[in-house]
Amino acid sequence: MSAATESLNRRGVMLVLSSPSGAGKTSISKAILDRDANIAPSVSVTTRAQRPGEVDGEDYHFSSREAFQNLVRQGQLLEYAEVFGNFYGTPRAPVEMALKDGRDLIFDIDWQGARQLTENARDDLVTVFVLPPHASELERRLLSRAQDAAETIEKRMAKAPDELSHYPEYDYVIVNYDLETSVQQVLSILHAERQRRQRFVGLAQFVRGLQEQVRTKYPGGELQ
Ligand code: 5GP
Repeated sequence: MSAATESLNRRGVMLVLSSPSGAGKTSISKAILDRDANIAPSVSVTTRAQRPGEVDGEDYHFSSREAFQNLVRQGQLLEYAEVFGNFYGTPRAPVEMALKDGRDLIFDIDWQGARQLTENARDDLVTVFVLPPHASELERRLLSRAQDAAETIEKRMAKAPDELSHYPEYDYVIVNYDLETSVQQVLSILHAERQRRQRFVGLAQFVRGLQEQVRTKYPGGELQ
């Protein structure tokens, strides 16, 4: 079988979505997971308390501080950070496996995590920052979530200006005026980014195969 008739594989895309708490990133991320069969969530490890309705192993891997520190020491996290007094980190092994198999992953991580991944995995990474259309939207979403204590909501709102300041570190920015439009925008980014040249494995060999096929049929190209 010649090289050009083999299928061309690509590495998976690491799609990072960051935003201040309450900008609507989780809803965007859920809609993308529902609509695209080739993308899965990267499930983070956290030391934060489990919220009502959250499922261990699906929303997060809930962990003690001690177990988290062990993962850090053993180099099992691709990135990690302290956010609102708790630790959050991305397990390395599932990410490496997915990327190798051409499966895309969506990451709901903060700017500190995005920064670490930009330093360590630039070629696989696409980063999107989600902005709320108005500050009142942040507050409304945090309150309507009704999962957090008033004190936690206040802490998260107070942190928003600092988090917002990190938008220039991202590849793309979305203003979440409307969920459906934002979902379409992120899907467009994902579709385009999948075709980025550097993601294709064995591309040079694939193209050489095509050249050979043409030359076999139309020799003499080198004479001109
Ligand atoms: P929450 O407690 O609301 O689930 O998440 C709080 C913040 O932690 C969010 O901004 C979320 O993006 C961030 N976060 C969740 N998982 C990770 C992770 O694995 N690494 C980093 N750096 N941030 C994370």
